[in-house]
Amino acid sequence: MIVPFNNLSELHCKIKTEIVESISNVIDKSAFISGSETESFEIAFAKKLGVKHCIGVGSGTSALWISLKMSGIGIGDEVIVPANTFFACAEAVELCGAIPVFIDNDECFNIDITKIESSINENTKAIMAVHLYGQMCDVDEILKICNKYDLLLIEDCSQSHFAKSNGKFAGTFGDCACFSFYPGKNLGAMGDAGCIVTNNDSLAEKCRLFRNHGEEGKSKHTIIGFNSRMDGFQSAVLKIKLAYIHDWNKKREELAQEYISRLMDCSFIQLPLVQKGNTHAFHLFVIKAERRDNLKIFLQESGINTGIHYPTPLPFLPVYKSKYNDDRNLFPNASANENMLLSLPIYPDLSTNQIDYVTDKIKEFYK
Ligand SMILES: *Cc1c(COP(=O)(O)O)cnc(C)c1O
Repeated sequence: MIVPFNNLSELHCKIKTEIVESISNVIDKSAFISGSETESFEIAFAKKLGVKHCIGVGSGTSALWISLKMSGIGIGDEVIVPANTFFACAEAVELCGAIPVFIDNDECFNIDITKIESSINENTKAIMAVHLYGQMCDVDEILKICNKYDLLLIEDCSQSHFAKSNGKFAGTFGDCACFSFYPGKNLGAMGDAGCIVTNNDSLAEKCRLFRNHGEEGKSKHTIIGFNSRMDGFQSAVLKIKLAYIHDWNKKREELAQEYISRLMDCSFIQLPLVQKGNTHAFHLFVIKAERRDNLKIFLQESGINTGIHYPTPLPFLPVYKSKYNDDRNLFPNASANENMLLSLPIYPDLSTNQIDYVTDKIKEFYK
């Protein structure tokens, strides 16, 4: 049996007619860049999430960079960033001329809120709350810290579209929130795309200006901006897919439960923990596995593709070598997980037969 890590072709097969029609409409209207299709997606996304503004941009990375920059983050400022996340989180801070200050992770692989306050100083301006793997971090506690020290809260929801904490969607807690619509995300385009959401009118306006060369009306450039707009084809695809996101997330959650019930008594692995009050969007199903590298190879040889998110905590990447000097003691939890994290296949079209096969193979490996 072959179990791919993701299966976008099967997902798209079922909605291809709708998508082709939507794309065809863009061609007819020539609404290729930030046109009517993008506007209507922005409105639909903001409405579904329950926020005032949605600003479509070129990617999730651009969303982070633009929202930080337009929030006033600049040279010498420090931004709290989790050590365990995708590199773009640090990159966006660096692109503003600011400094990412890394914090270790908790048992849910999200930022450890007990380790934030000791890293705050007079240069700290913001906390980037990343909701990793599909589960929200402890955003209520982070909000308290932000209020106490007068810091901005920027949420990165790239892996947690419509995940919830106590019934409230990810992206509705911060001063602003960023989403990636990279094809493999829970809500994915067919190319690069992302967005910023916020309830702040003036921040929304600044982000809208920045993504389009700082142009306020035809050829009236009022600030230095950039070209990072969402294109019409991506908006057309996303608009169709947005109608399915709750069903797809529900399917992911059901499949996660299937994994959990089958692997519950395997003592060599640790299953993902779901914090009380959280609705996990299971962008990824990440386990901690003993002899991870051998297990990964064994699964690969059995036709099962797995992933590692992420192989190296950000402070230990080559780019930060001179700063953190590979000192594992600084990030004990992230370091302890480094050789154990393994992402099993999870996507709406994964079958129970495939889950049976994956879990049987895992048990066979440890026997
Ligand atoms: C995917 C991702 C990004 C970057 O998004 P792109 O659209 O690929 O630029 C940022 N942060 C996290 C947590 C992500 O998973």
